[in-house]
Amino acid sequence: MNLPKGYLSPSSVARWESCQMKYYKMDVLGEHFMPSRALETKKKNHRVILEEDLGYKIRHGSNRADSELSEIYRAEMEQIKPLLAEDPTETEPVEKYVETEVKYFDQIIKETRPFRQGTIPVEVEKKLQFDIGGVPIVGFLDLIANETICNRIQDLKREGQASQKGLAGKNRQLVTYAIGTGLTDVGLVQIVENKKPTVNLDNGEVTPQEIQRVTQQYQGVANEIETAMRTGLFRPVDHGDKRKAWICSFKWCGAWSSHARDFVTGENVSCPWGERSQVKV
Ligand code: SF4
Repeated sequence: MNLPKGYLSPSSVARWESCQMKYYKMDVLGEHFMPSRALETKKKNHRVILEEDLGYKIRHGSNRADSELSEIYRAEMEQIKPLLAEDPTETEPVEKYVETEVKYFDQIIKETRPFRQGTIPVEVEKKLQFDIGGVPIVGFLDLIANETICNRIQDLKREGQASQKGLAGKNRQLVTYAIGTGLTDVGLVQIVENKKPTVNLDNGEVTPQEIQRVTQQYQGVANEIETAMRTGLFRPVDHGDKRKAWICSFKWCGAWSSHARDFVTGENVSCPWGERSQVKV
């Protein structure tokens, strides 16, 4: 199977589906994109909760104190300030941004406390390599706790996007890891972002039908990618597609911002496809 890197992952498949051009730049050319403040912050929230609290609990038998977690988070955010300042889409001073985020993180750890303290973690950030219907897959599973696979341990959702019944069972990433581990109990731990963040733990069981559906999806995407690798044809986002057009903008596409500057000439340029975007920058 001729796949770039030799395998697929839940996130590379999501990238392929959002924009084939973006997939080409990231997964075939291996380009690194300009940092997004929102993404870097999310990664930090995620890491501190997973490794510094749940991972710590595996190693030491108890959770860390909230104040300790808060200090770790603050120190890590201080460290990445230069990176956060590089995001060309943000104008808020980085000092102010970090202060707000630290306060927000304090609320998150308070709201997630019952989940964090009630759960018995077995493994965090587990790397899995396996096949789905003949397609090699590599992925990182957030947490296995009490025989349940949990991913997106700290996923910010707007109120309207969250709380859909049965979301956990339908989530492709979770179904993928259910196939990889053989465990079928899955859950999402989401922080619902409204005036006051609240935690929404959505549990479900992966059914054989869902496994079949996801297997077919991987096979379909692997075939499409093989064809694109053969023909060299990678499609940019179709701006007529309202579900996707928003992705194609300076703010939301890492690829757009990555070639906002030509690294050879230093001139400001933009994605040849992104320029067609209707989104005002
Ligand atoms: S700017 Fe648009 S077409 Fe270009 S990579 Fe990003 S989403 Fe795709």
